[in-house]
Amino acid sequence: MKVDHLKVGPIRTNCYLIGDEATNKALVIDAGGETEQILEQLRQRGLKLELIVATHGHFDHHDGVRLLKEQTGARFLMHQADVFGLKTTDAPQPDGFLQDNDNVECGRLNFKIIHTPGHSPGGICLYSEKEKVLFSGDTLFLGTYGRVDLPYSDEAAMINSLKRLLNLPPETVVFPGHGKATTIGAEQNVIETAW
Ligand SMILES: [Zn+2]
Ligand SMILES: [Zn+2]
Repeated sequence: MKVDHLKVGPIRTNCYLIGDEATNKALVIDAGGETEQILEQLRQRGLKLELIVATHGHFDHHDGVRLLKEQTGARFLMHQADVFGLKTTDAPQPDGFLQDNDNVECGRLNFKIIHTPGHSPGGICLYSEKEKVLFSGDTLFLGTYGRVDLPYSDEAAMINSLKRLLNLPPETVVFPGHGKATTIGAEQNVIETAW
């Protein structure tokens, strides 16, 4: 698994391009803009984009989905509870919905979906036990966690979601929706002081 990272859109959202070298199939998490750059990366690496996943419904995580989907034919997936947020961009309706415990497969890559409501009702994380990585969206960041003062946020739900993430192995690398990568172990204090 190789992870490319781009900062996209007006608030520099992290967009991750994950390729499976064995099959040249790829997955993009949070296509928030700069679609030409993403397409260029795909071309350079000789990857075929199969899936676009939005970690949640805020505009900065799906502003580039329509163009990327039109250019690649990839399927677009997210949690149903955040679909209302798609109207803030021109993103298309999802081709399917992701729920807690679902598996997302792309070539030989396999991610388990962890539903982590709190920042938004339909927030999800993608977890690979084999690769020991978590794509945490706006749930967990380096040194802090996602805002819970937004419309449709829920602080109690956020605390439960963070508690679930604390069950992951401490060495799990966390790739968040904004800012730098971290690990579950490094954020243990942040998570525990949330309640
Ligand atoms: Zn957000
Ligand atoms: Zn965001």
